[in-house]
Amino acid sequence: MQDGFGRKIDYLRISVTDRCNFRCQYCMSEKMTFMPKSELLTLEEITLIAERFVTHGIRKIRLTGGEPLVRRDMKDVIQRLGRKVETGELEELTLTTNGSLLEEYADHLAQHNIRRINVSMDTTDPTRFSEITRGADVHKVLAGIAAVKSVGIDVKINMVALRSFNQDDLLPMAEYCAEQGHDLTIIETMPLGDTGADRKLEHVSVEEFIAPLQSQYELTPIAHRSAGPARYEMVEPLGLRLGLITPLSQNFCDGCNRLRLTTDGKIFMCLGHNAHVDLRAAVRKDGISAVDQLLRQALKLKPLRHDFNAQLNGSAEKLERHMNVTGG
Ligand code: SAM
Ligand code: SF4
Repeated sequence: MQDGFGRKIDYLRISVTDRCNFRCQYCMSEKMTFMPKSELLTLEEITLIAERFVTHGIRKIRLTGGEPLVRRDMKDVIQRLGRKVETGELEELTLTTNGSLLEEYADHLAQHNIRRINVSMDTTDPTRFSEITRGADVHKVLAGIAAVKSVGIDVKINMVALRSFNQDDLLPMAEYCAEQGHDLTIIETMPLGDTGADRKLEHVSVEEFIAPLQSQYELTPIAHRSAGPARYEMVEPLGLRLGLITPLSQNFCDGCNRLRLTTDGKIFMCLGHNAHVDLRAAVRKDGISAVDQLLRQALKLKPLRHDFNAQLNGSAEKLERHMNVTGG
């Protein structure tokens, strides 16, 4: 598949639920409300739609949310899509998770061809972790990470850069990742949905955020690429591979290969735009073949780039949608 600007689209991110057992301050408001269950795609619909996308050229699928592992019966979805990796139709099936339920899922993920996952952890400090997630326990996440590692799954830690909150946690995080053999990716916050916080105060560029690491270690750009938007540096002598995701400070939309399926069956072609097509009603009315025509329409909707800087500065309309709806 190609979009209107000639970009190859082969990477699908599926938000399997907007619900979550954490309330990270930059992602959700404290009193977050979720979609009524009646609006959600069933797991059978999610799987059928994903399989149809694969026939159109999707080669990588990331399951996300909300927290993907809080949705009941996720094991079936993982098993069915994991089979596509076995047959070679998919290059990769992966997951972004907060890690809290990984102990329960580790064996199942490994058995069904998940080779690497992203786990979000903004600090390893128990008090600050509880503060940023509004009450979660970092020990549970660390135990989950150890469980997936023990069954041979590679882990990349996602750390969101938050001004005046977790910059001091960067060195301990880098050292923990290096010691455990995880990659580490730093992500700039994006102004998605009202969280009650001032997004401008929260935001810090990746360049500024990683300064303490740069003053202590040697960072060298490397050619490594994953399916997503990160560029990579090697941190020596730690031997840490560091990914940098810079939606605001350094635009990466030229190389965008992604589309997103939401919990309620909408295809969004960009995290930062509201344009979408609605698959749910069409699939329920006309069956799974309705996907084909709507996918063609969706490809035409993909914008050249997001507009997060303008949204942050208030010169473009704010995005109402929170990150848990389209997933990360
Ligand atoms: N619950 C899972 C998790 O936290 O990994 C998956 C969904 S979460 C929305 C996906 C990723 O988006 C996480 O790495 C999270 O830190 C990040 N994220 C959430 N809100 C964000 C925001 N406003 N700006 C940048 N990243 C955000
Ligand atoms: Fe939940 Fe992930 Fe959002 Fe945190 S970032 S509230 S873990 S969906």
